[in-house]
Amino acid sequence: MDEFDLIRRFFTGAGARRADVTLGVGDDCALLRVPAGMELAVSIDTLVAGVHFFADCDPHGLGHKALAVGLSDLAAMGAEPAWATLAVTLPGADESWIGAFARGFAALASRHGVALVGGDTTRGPLTLSVQVHGWVPEGCAVRRAGARPGDLICITGTLGDAGLALQLLNEGSDPPPDLRARLERPSPRVAAGLCVRGLASAMIDVSDGLAADLGHILTASGVGAEVHLGELPLSRSVAARIRLPEDWALPVASGDDYELCFTVAEDHRCELESLARGLGCGVRVVGRITHEQGLTWRLPDGAAWQPRRGGYDHFAGLAQDPFPVRSNDRDLDDAQG
Ligand code: ADP
Ligand code: MG
Repeated sequence: MDEFDLIRRFFTGAGARRADVTLGVGDDCALLRVPAGMELAVSIDTLVAGVHFFADCDPHGLGHKALAVGLSDLAAMGAEPAWATLAVTLPGADESWIGAFARGFAALASRHGVALVGGDTTRGPLTLSVQVHGWVPEGCAVRRAGARPGDLICITGTLGDAGLALQLLNEGSDPPPDLRARLERPSPRVAAGLCVRGLASAMIDVSDGLAADLGHILTASGVGAEVHLGELPLSRSVAARIRLPEDWALPVASGDDYELCFTVAEDHRCELESLARGLGCGVRVVGRITHEQGLTWRLPDGAAWQPRRGGYDHFAGLAQDPFPVRSNDRDLDDAQG
């Protein structure tokens, strides 16, 4: 199978069919139509074997996750997903692996009405880059910079589940299926992002841990915050892990949550509550934006608390990558050999 067979077989026509795609996979460029009055929201994310995922992980889940992380960025702007492009660097042409990866990608794309309109296919160490494109009415995108003192800080879903699944895998144990799914098949909060557009003053998706990502809202908005750890939305599994103050690092500073963190003016509390009841994932108010700069965390007893580290930073010189090469990472070994 050569490069073009591979593109034809696995990546042509993947995802939703859309009337706004004049030309998809197969030419030098895709041709796409953005409706009048809309702005195009664009974001790209790269997943690297050994850094973002275990090289021997399930390829169907990986296809899902490669798109999910991009859809999460669109959600965080309040944008409606439309198109994606996909650059894959593969160690070899393993048809069953590529087939499963492409099916995982296409299934999530179809669910969100996203058409795969182009990409690039190369050989090398396993790396996946997905660019997503969505729309938002002009001037309506929710940026990081709009938080104001007094605003409520809100979180969708639950925090720390993916972090706990990763911790269990790195300890050599098998996470329960619900936790594993949070790590391997995150649900991008696209519907929530669209619902809170018009209500939220600022928004970000929590991919590097709440401490780091809320920190980005605070920096961009020139404000501070106080967050009550006891109000954080936690699954039973994560709640059961919190015995000592340092255990709060799990929901606060582990990555891959793909929940939304957004701020809402106190005046809109009623709208927020009715909206939260309509959202399947749930929304919790966890704190407030303050005039004073800095992020203050309060333990359930009211005492101040600080995480040891913010979030994952690729260039911060961590002792170990989060998805280290394991002895059974054959694909990665092959790719490097
Ligand atoms: P070019 O040489 O013009 O860059 P390529 O040979 O890389 O074109 O790709 C041929 C066509 O296949 C293009 O339309 C490109 O967008 C598409 N394509 C290549 N790889 C992928 C992929 N992994 N997923 C989706 N489309 C792809
Ligand atoms: Mg190319």
